[in-house]
Amino acid sequence: MTSRTKDWRTQGSCTVVDPELFFPAGNTSRALSQAARAKAVCSRCPVALECLHWAVRCGEPSGIWGGLTEHERSRLGGRHRTHRPG
Ligand code: SF4
Repeated sequence: MTSRTKDWRTQGSCTVVDPELFFPAGNTSRALSQAARAKAVCSRCPVALECLHWAVRCGEPSGIWGGLTEHERSRLGGRHRTHRPG
């Protein structure tokens, strides 16, 4: 992790929130409510853009990063973590 990467992570609004909030499971009403609450935190985060860029660039496979779910990020055209031989 570079110092710049570390820097944005330490400035995120989620640093004072339970990390589990950002990993809703499934599409139940409870999970959707959880995702909405996580996105609300992201919406007022000063490093949301850096976070989103990182998640897309790294192909983060799960969770809400930069205010977007994995499904929403996949529509941005980011690569996903897959094993590619060679
Ligand atoms: S955008 Fe959301 S997940 Fe990313 S650092 Fe900010 S609060 Fe955390």
